[in-house]
Amino acid sequence: MRSMRSLTVLGATGSIGASTLDLIRRNRDQWRVVALTAHANAGDLAKLALEFGAELAVVADEAHLPALREALAGSGVEAAGGPAALVEAAARGAEVTVAAIVGCAGLAPTMAAIEQGGVIALANKEALVSAGEVMMAAVARHGATLLPVDSEHNAIFQCLAGNRAEHVRWITLTASGGPFRDWSLERLQAATPAEAVRHPNWDMGAKISVDSATMFNKGLELIEAYHLFPVGLDRLRIIVHPQSVVHSMVEYRDGSTLAQLGPSDMRVPIASALAWPERMDTPCAPLDLAEIGELTFRKPDEARFPATRLAREAAQAGGGIPAVLNAANEISVAAFLHGQISFTRIAAYVEDVLGSYAPPPPASLSDVLEVDGEARARARTLVTST
Ligand code: NAD
Ligand code: MG
Repeated sequence: MRSMRSLTVLGATGSIGASTLDLIRRNRDQWRVVALTAHANAGDLAKLALEFGAELAVVADEAHLPALREALAGSGVEAAGGPAALVEAAARGAEVTVAAIVGCAGLAPTMAAIEQGGVIALANKEALVSAGEVMMAAVARHGATLLPVDSEHNAIFQCLAGNRAEHVRWITLTASGGPFRDWSLERLQAATPAEAVRHPNWDMGAKISVDSATMFNKGLELIEAYHLFPVGLDRLRIIVHPQSVVHSMVEYRDGSTLAQLGPSDMRVPIASALAWPERMDTPCAPLDLAEIGELTFRKPDEARFPATRLAREAAQAGGGIPAVLNAANEISVAAFLHGQISFTRIAAYVEDVLGSYAPPPPASLSDVLEVDGEARARARTLVTST
């Protein structure tokens, strides 16, 4: 058995955070928790910090620091708040950092963790989509190990093991198609937030659930794959697979296709990243293919779901364009969840912002954050003019 390792979870109170800590809870003797962070939920964060004996708990929204301090008073767990404290928590040098904040808000702390050169288990795809080359260069410069937690990328990572990129013919990302995969365009126009967050296969945070319904999740994942697995954009494909059992595939030049299968439970890819290059137990039920019966596949429909086309074009354009796509999507998704815009406006606004703003390629974290900020401002203008 390997020796005890230290762990930080950025976004500990979310869906990925909960799945991660569920695995840690079952293996308490193998992990020492350094820092846990949350956006605003001081109560839940304090409970987790106490349960896991964390050194430090951080709320990104400083307004919730007094509540966190009160909940942790006398416990010996340090409490801190605000964006700088979040970055400092990530820079404490845990051997393994699970990056599970949602959105580009996770970029600065994820970069701080990368700069420590440890293992980064990356769920926060928006950070990689926005920072692209800047993040991958930092990974190389600091000798960090970036392990994908996103189920598709974790599947591809496993299917690539022991093979060379030049032998790859195709990497195929599977997509469930989301809750609206069979809806007409007319019906999509009237889709509500409650309908959008009701995913048929996965239990996830609200933002990624909406992304799954628009297919922006797959678009972001295409850009994520482009950076993680440098085989070239034309070797990356998407296929709709409603059962979410095959998590992605790699086809080699000799005609062999390797796929990774598993239950729709994020604890499987999280466990794969936490234990890598070893394996660990999970409480997930074994995959019962006879019970599932049928696995089906079909082409994505970009007329109803333009998100994957927009993402492919953004990846092709490169530089700051994927950050623009991501920022415009974050603002549009939030506006949709608040009932301010209709479902189909999300992709329309992303396309509008992409059409109005072509920043020069960012060379640093601060450049990326500047592009992100400007694209957000433009998307907000569209929302308020609705
Ligand atoms: P979630 O909304 O359930 O949790 C998000 C976490 O980030 C929470 O701890 C929240 O407090 C924190 N957070 C939110 N806004 C923040 C901010 N502005 N500053 C600091 N912290 C903030 O989201 P989730 O579903 O766990 O997803 C997290 C990330 O993992 C996303 O990037 C998502 O795309 C990715 N992901 C999730 C799943 C899944 O099954 N949930 C699967 C694959 C990838
Ligand atoms: Mg995924």
